[in-house]
Amino acid sequence: MVNQSKASILLVEDEENLQEALKLNLELEGYEVTCANNGAIALKKVDEEYYDLILLDIMLPQVDGFDVCERIRLKNIDTPVLMLSARSGSADRIAGLRRGADDYLTKPFNLEELLLRVEKLIDKNRKLQEKTTIGDQYEFGGNTIDFKAQTAINKRGELIELSKKEVMLLKLLMEYRNEVVSREKILQAVWGYQVFPTTRTIDNFILNFRKYFEADPREPIHFHSVRGVGYKFSD
Ligand code: CA
Repeated sequence: MVNQSKASILLVEDEENLQEALKLNLELEGYEVTCANNGAIALKKVDEEYYDLILLDIMLPQVDGFDVCERIRLKNIDTPVLMLSARSGSADRIAGLRRGADDYLTKPFNLEELLLRVEKLIDKNRKLQEKTTIGDQYEFGGNTIDFKAQTAINKRGELIELSKKEVMLLKLLMEYRNEVVSREKILQAVWGYQVFPTTRTIDNFILNFRKYFEADPREPIHFHSVRGVGYKFSD
């Protein structure tokens, strides 16, 4: 079931019959479908408009699906990508996932399975976006954080210059306010996959946040650590 507004899908497929059949079936499910029959057009469409999902064939004339996917990710577009391949075997699947695809189906596929995966990816992405509706500024307990300027003014009226990593961590915790964010998630989102600092590094950030923003850093009401699990921010 498609909730709220119609979700929009960019369908990138060069086989005319398959494109038409897919478009029809997706529209019957209530999706708004835009078609592209080659990679260059797909990239242009992605620049022009927001899509909830991209259904991407791998074997395309000129720019293939792998390249399209990679270029979309390089533009920092997080739209879920479901890849379609004519070849079974794991090589394409791994290559696709490595280039930034979220899911993968081999042709010929079962239509019902495709529709289910489409729905799942769109739902997941919408839930994620609901989490990230935090604006450029955030106020809590008399403190104001300006994410763009990378500064904060605390309840004592002091101006605090924040580092880039501090801003990233604050934003992450605030997007998931009242939920525990795991150490793994923090390390992945703030420090990236390559560098793995010790958990003490995160602890030190949290200690600083308490000094900046808590009335009594020893009795925190905003920045909590949950032993063995992660960290939680509350308003
Ligand atoms: Ca094709």
